[in-house]
Amino acid sequence: MAADPRRAVPRTDVVMADPRLTNARQRLGAVTVRDAVQAAQALARAGDLRPEQVADAAVAGLPRRATTLRPVLNATGVVVHTNLGRAPLSAAAVEAVTAAAGAVDVEYDVVTGERARRGRGALAALRAAVPAAGDVLVVNNGAAALVLAVTALSGGREVLVSRGEMVEIGDGFRLPDLIESTGARIVEVGTTNRTSLADYAEAVTERTAAAIKLHPSNFRIEGFAAAVPIRELATLPVPVVADTGSGLLAPLALLPDEPDAATALGDGAALVTTSGDKLLGGPQAGLILGDTALVERLRRHPLARALRVDKTTLAALEATLRGPTPPVLSYLCADPQALRDRAERITTALSAAGVIAHVVPSDGVAGGGGAPGVTLQGWAVALPPHYAAALRTGEPCVVGRVERDRCLLDLRCLPPDGDMEVQRAVLSVAVGRGQE
Ligand SMILES: *Cc1c(COP(=O)(O)O)cnc(C)c1O
Repeated sequence: MAADPRRAVPRTDVVMADPRLTNARQRLGAVTVRDAVQAAQALARAGDLRPEQVADAAVAGLPRRATTLRPVLNATGVVVHTNLGRAPLSAAAVEAVTAAAGAVDVEYDVVTGERARRGRGALAALRAAVPAAGDVLVVNNGAAALVLAVTALSGGREVLVSRGEMVEIGDGFRLPDLIESTGARIVEVGTTNRTSLADYAEAVTERTAAAIKLHPSNFRIEGFAAAVPIRELATLPVPVVADTGSGLLAPLALLPDEPDAATALGDGAALVTTSGDKLLGGPQAGLILGDTALVERLRRHPLARALRVDKTTLAALEATLRGPTPPVLSYLCADPQALRDRAERITTALSAAGVIAHVVPSDGVAGGGGAPGVTLQGWAVALPPHYAAALRTGEPCVVGRVERDRCLLDLRCLPPDGDMEVQRAVLSVAVGRGQE
């Protein structure tokens, strides 16, 4: 009787001793490597693999990285894509994150050998970027910034919010709910389409702690509509907190309707809260800028400690503020003709290889719930629709946009070497399917 091949399946410790797998243990960890080995052994036991193929199969089955997060080539044309991690960091910010990953002087003065203010470099950079701010503070994200501001200012009292600004900004996240989670009571003023300064003024009592101006970032009310600008709110006898959301620190001509921190402070806002990973193009963070005494009150509030950011965030934020133009801004301002030239080059190469590809106009958007009315003129490579899923699940992972039964690859938000990678990814899908 022939020996049962399943009896010959090599033992785990024998397979694990393969030099390729001992190396992988350094990179991926022992548990991950053992899982791959055991999966290969199971195939051999089931008779789907010869015993001598187990090590090769285990190597082939290893994940590429120690994290399941996979890098994505964003070919959607959406610059700040929340599902794809919002702002991609600049090379300078990535380098700063790597440098800060180990032991770092985040809260230490190497000259005196004593404790120093945490993240002072990033805070100084933010202060320098917005001279109108008396002081600044950085917390975990935009929502945390608003929570801290409302908590510290209101002490459970009342805050005024216009009915036209009671907004949900995505995935069931409603700003009024966030505000009320602090224990503050919202006093709604005005109507859905129109709110006047008198509406606010009539609602102010001795229980009023602040007026909160929320930027309805992802929709617009058109027609018979009126909101009260910060300039007028600043005449109320209570501080104005402006949640601008999008993270612009100064006006951006391309997005004229997006509020920015410098203008809001110049108009009289006591505090501005905003996000770090939207149009600013930095890491996830919440920026608080404004009146020196109020920022100090927020800094000293116990909640500030629970919302504080880590050293890598501070590093990336400082490098974003001081460093070269972040990708978000380059992508927003990409020249349509340059995008068209890139799409032509890729399409020519793909057509030569027998892929059905066309250059088509493609509107990009700012995304991240910002600038809802603005479309960014651009161009895309159009492919047959079946490419969409194949490119998403390939390596590298390319996420395009399916529109009118075509898979569009918009080149606006690709990094410098992204065009070649996308082209290669499309070709490998075409080869895999025998080209169509
Ligand atoms: C995005 C946004 C927030 C939330 O910011 P996160 O950084 O996502 O927490 C709050 N307010 C407005 C107006 C926003 O646009």
